[in-house]
Amino acid sequence: MPYKHFEEYNIKVTDDVKTRYENIIKDLGEDANREGLVKTPERAAKAIQFLTQGYHQDPVEILKGAMFAESYNEMVIVKDIELYSLCEHHILPFFGKAHIAYIPNGQIVGLSKLPRIVDVFARRLQVQERLTEQILDCINDTLKPQGVAVVIEASHMCMMMRGVQKQNSVTTTSGFRGQFEKIETRNEFLKLIGK
Ligand SMILES: [Zn+2]
Repeated sequence: MPYKHFEEYNIKVTDDVKTRYENIIKDLGEDANREGLVKTPERAAKAIQFLTQGYHQDPVEILKGAMFAESYNEMVIVKDIELYSLCEHHILPFFGKAHIAYIPNGQIVGLSKLPRIVDVFARRLQVQERLTEQILDCINDTLKPQGVAVVIEASHMCMMMRGVQKQNSVTTTSGFRGQFEKIETRNEFLKLIGK
């Protein structure tokens, strides 16, 4: 077999979380032994570990693993990066897109690493504002570019399914460092991502 993909879960954590989900299902008034639900606590325990795997990953290491000396010094943009996270207030999903730009300062980074660090920070309990800052700071401190910009647009299930039930609202957050603090550079970036 040339390629094999597998998931590995910590047995003790899975067991503990599974028991808690079983209790939650019972507390909600359901029959945890019903056929369709028998394996649900275990599946949910694995799903929540998958969705929070970012706690065990090091974004700095990921970036450092693919940095290359290069004299290119124009803006590099990766836009429309799919993003799935969990709001820390309700443990409900928020999802949307991230757009990242940087201007190199002697070093570039493998392009696939930018979506990967979005995932590392998104797969934790988050608020969109902090997620934006963490991605920004991580790139800025590790790659030390001339500038970095991050824009995130996301829909929050906790707003859509409960509370105010605003189904079509999108929350936008952004952060800019270095050259992107200049209005012309920032505007060029925003134009290129269609904002
Ligand atoms: Zn929320």
